[in-house]
Amino acid sequence: MELAARTGTTVELSAGDELVVTNTHGRQVVDTWALSAEKPTRFLSAPHTWMHHGRLTIRVGDSLMDNTRRPLLSMIEDSSPGDHDMLIPSCDLARYRQLGVEGYHDNCHDNFFEALAAAGVEAPQFVPQPLNLFMRVPITPDGAFSIDSPLARPADHVRLAALEDVVVVLSACPQDLAPTNGVGRTPTGVAYEVIGRRA
Ligand SMILES: [Zn+2]
Repeated sequence: MELAARTGTTVELSAGDELVVTNTHGRQVVDTWALSAEKPTRFLSAPHTWMHHGRLTIRVGDSLMDNTRRPLLSMIEDSSPGDHDMLIPSCDLARYRQLGVEGYHDNCHDNFFEALAAAGVEAPQFVPQPLNLFMRVPITPDGAFSIDSPLARPADHVRLAALEDVVVVLSACPQDLAPTNGVGRTPTGVAYEVIGRRA
């Protein structure tokens, strides 16, 4: 399936399903959330994932923990150089205001709510911290960070396995004023595929 540039979608996964997200053109960040299908107040939580692994980043083999410290997903494959940010909040209209945008600007915050509404899924009251697939945010020893152009190449992909029934939300980040999606500042679409347990 194609996820058009600047848009979001939901993907429903049953326990055992795998979701492959492919960076079709390279350098595109994909804001990613996961909610328990049974109880959407349980959601993928960045701080609980940091705590579980003792670091601020994730690697192949790591579980993605929810806010009740249960694993929702596992990252089982990653062909990219391995940058996946879990520190930077999703872009929103307030961020684009800071960057000088006066009218509406597509944003991952709105994509999150719109995708869940379109799927009829009860959304949390706020946007959880996303897992920003392919986003490159180097952190220096003194704690400073920067948002750099991603190193992900065309066709790089990650594979996530669902450990229970979950609703994943994907947003092809529409940031075109910072190098989040490359120095060309040109958001692109990505592709995703669900590989069923019994397929
Ligand atoms: Zn964004």
